[in-house]
Amino acid sequence: MEESTCHHEQLAKRQRTETSGPVSSACVGGHAIINQPGPTEVPEDVLRAMHHQSFMLEDERLHKMTASVMADLKGMFGCSEDSEVFLHAANGHGMWDSVLYNTLQHGDRVLIIGSKFFGEQWGRSVSGAELIPEFFPDPLTSTVGIAAFRARLEADSAREIRAVLAVQACTLTGIYNDVQGFGAVLRDVGHDALLIVDAVCSFGVHRMLMKEWQVDAVLTASQKGLMSPPGIGIVCAGPKALSWHRAVKRPGQGLFSQYWDWTSRLTDYHYFKWYGTPPQQLLFGLRRALDLLNEEGLEHAMARQRHCALAVRRAVEAWSVGQDSAISLQVPDEDSQCSAVVVVRVSERFGARQIVDFCRAHFDVSLAGAFGPFTDKAFRIATMGTVNAPCVFAILGALEATYRACKIPHGSGGVSAAIQYMSDVAASSGLCVKKGKGY
Ligand SMILES: *Cc1c(COP(=O)(O)O)cnc(C)c1O
Repeated sequence: MEESTCHHEQLAKRQRTETSGPVSSACVGGHAIINQPGPTEVPEDVLRAMHHQSFMLEDERLHKMTASVMADLKGMFGCSEDSEVFLHAANGHGMWDSVLYNTLQHGDRVLIIGSKFFGEQWGRSVSGAELIPEFFPDPLTSTVGIAAFRARLEADSAREIRAVLAVQACTLTGIYNDVQGFGAVLRDVGHDALLIVDAVCSFGVHRMLMKEWQVDAVLTASQKGLMSPPGIGIVCAGPKALSWHRAVKRPGQGLFSQYWDWTSRLTDYHYFKWYGTPPQQLLFGLRRALDLLNEEGLEHAMARQRHCALAVRRAVEAWSVGQDSAISLQVPDEDSQCSAVVVVRVSERFGARQIVDFCRAHFDVSLAGAFGPFTDKAFRIATMGTVNAPCVFAILGALEATYRACKIPHGSGGVSAAIQYMSDVAASSGLCVKKGKGY
């Protein structure tokens, strides 16, 4: 246990010094807060579970662990019995390829929803596989409208769109896309395109009900809501995706990759379930992380993350009051906001980078900046994974102190607004703490 604590603190120190040089601020030292929308903080329990020698590949304990992880994940996907979970030594980018190479064929058109960065990156995989990407217009400040989506599908009378690739929660903007609604529209319009969802930062954060919503495949990765180290890529394929998989061309006839191939992973032989040696210590960690989620209860964990996001929004709303304020919400509409991350815009007069750097150097809170079109224009507060009420208070307090020190104009009462919100939640539901847990 001591070793893990040490490791965590060393990591925090290293991140501090590597990014901002030797630190001499009077306020730092002790426990640092690493708040990133991926990879998220790995709980001590998970780190400890990984500290274990590798098993022989024949070891039954290893096989049982893979089976139990697959079973738990199936439950979280809300999929039908005849669905399959595939595990890979890979990240989210690998999973984009996995779903494309297993269900589609050269020249197929796909409609990509959630275009900024993740959609665009997914689009690169689409083009690389010689499929034709079509990017659905991305509003950037609110969710993709269901009516516009319906109109696009209705216009596709020739049924050229073979798959809809939707990002459930966008980690760059904080937008939530209503994949349940997309499924309903596909059904209503009678369009047979596959619905494939990127849930890399929403899995374990937002509900996923593949069967009920008629989502055909979902992909995710270990390092965000699942609170595990990066390195395990996960796909769940429902019956329609599996039947398309069986119908697509086989080796020598076009789109095919032996490594990603689902059929080669559908085997009783454990070694090929991972298509080679499993990343064992990552698996030990993921097993423990799923135990933690089970112990807390998935419903509780999702509600906790939602409340954290809402408390952060209350603070940012208060900060954004006043003509002079440099602070605002990227996604003002609450229904368009995901629970994984809250994106805060900073006026170009000041720049977001200095806020992130100052906050890390002086208060030991490592927030994420933003990239692409948002470079220096926004920073991001992650509310997924281990984040809870005291963590939110600490982050918001450090930010408010940063604004004051850096003379960033902002409305008053941000931290108080978050405290009031959490206080109301606690009073009405007790959701902020686990029953019976106390010291
Ligand atoms: C993080 C993320 C990815 C990319 O995952 P990697 O593991 O970094 O490849 C894809 N989609 C979304 C929505 C993400 O948040």
